Amino acid sequence: MNVYDGLRITAMLERHGYVHTDDIADADIILLNTCAVRAKATEKVYSALGRIRLAKKKDAIYGIVGCVARESGSDAFRKLKDLNFVLGPQSYHKLPEILSDPNTKLLDINLGGLEKFDELPPITKSPLVAYIPVQEGCNHCCTYCIVPYTRGPEISRAFNDIMAETMHAAEVGAIEICFLGQNVNGYKFTDKNGKTYRLSDVIKATAKIDSVKRIRFTSSYPTEMTDDLIELFGTEKKLLPFLNMPIQSGSDNILKRMHRQYSISEYMAIIDKFKNIRPDIQISSDFIVGFPGESDDDFEQTMHAAKHVGYINSFSFKYSPRPHTAAAIMPDQIPENIKSERLIKLDDLLNERQREFNLSCIDKTFECLYEGPDKTGKKHIYRTPYMQPCIVTTDNPTNMATITITSANKSCLHGKIID
Ligand code: SAH
Repeated sequence: MNVYDGLRITAMLERHGYVHTDDIADADIILLNTCAVRAKATEKVYSALGRIRLAKKKDAIYGIVGCVARESGSDAFRKLKDLNFVLGPQSYHKLPEILSDPNTKLLDINLGGLEKFDELPPITKSPLVAYIPVQEGCNHCCTYCIVPYTRGPEISRAFNDIMAETMHAAEVGAIEICFLGQNVNGYKFTDKNGKTYRLSDVIKATAKIDSVKRIRFTSSYPTEMTDDLIELFGTEKKLLPFLNMPIQSGSDNILKRMHRQYSISEYMAIIDKFKNIRPDIQISSDFIVGFPGESDDDFEQTMHAAKHVGYINSFSFKYSPRPHTAAAIMPDQIPENIKSERLIKLDDLLNERQREFNLSCIDKTFECLYEGPDKTGKKHIYRTPYMQPCIVTTDNPTNMATITITSANKSCLHGKIID
């Protein structure tokens, strides 16, 4: 979501005559686009702002946009007195106001809905992967999560707006479309004629665009997986056989306390449905360890669930208490050392399975999408349909390539282009 927001902000600044620079000392305007999901991300923002302040030109304006801006509000100005703007995730289209008068302080952390999508100019050139949001905000109210506070209630965008943006992204270079939403599979929009569109309709319409070769979406809420969407995985070949469906915990007791609205057996039944429809599908997940009240036994159930599903790539986090959330004030917080021990154990398991899956790809052939040169600049990175990075040697990288995997380790694959 932040990558998307960043591109739209860049397009807006370009329209005001700015060009991008990586050199802070050269910049006239510097903004940090921020994430507030875990405390660590928030803390990093202020140390980064401190560094920017020292490195920037004296009259350069600087500020924060995104969820930390929304979380901090005017506090940010108290922490850094010369900060110029603090704009929440739904207000960054107001940035031009400060460009016309850099002496003012601009604070806007309102949750205005979908206004920003209309106000911002379209991107002029798309990366090969275009991220297209289908909704803002979230209504799920998981007790650990700050997102409903920072991004507000869930609002689905109009189907026609999403399709116009998707077609434009394809016209200006996108080959893969990744639909975004905090609760992306809950997308639901009813137009003025009473016709209702779901995510499956967005995907079907996108698959008709010739130049779009791959479609995916993130992140999904397990019980919003409706049959129309699951069945589409059986018929729509452009949908990648790879799905992020966060389980968070393997214990029904903890899921209840997290206010996740499914049990482990319901979650597993959804996975089975996917596997029946699309046998080559692989799943990734998000996990939180050390949620308040998590016992050794609860944690073992998470290990068990992780082993059972065999996720090929996951994100795992230590629970981080966040302001404006119910879990932050639960009494039975877990000590940091136990959280760390559990995270190491879970990561070992997840990494081993990831390595195993990568090794199982040797000698297989995949249609892959170009990502860019590797660090040396001599080799090139592609992404397989399972989003594994695959390194190849070629003088002439094409956008899509058929690649046979020759070797693998935990973090990447190596392959040779056969077409
Ligand atoms: N709707 C998104 C939520 C974005 S946050 C989603 O389903 O992915 C991404 C992940 O961060 C969440 O899935 C969760 O695993 C993790 N997360 C969110 N709040 C957290 C917290 N307070 N502490 C630790 N991890 C958290």
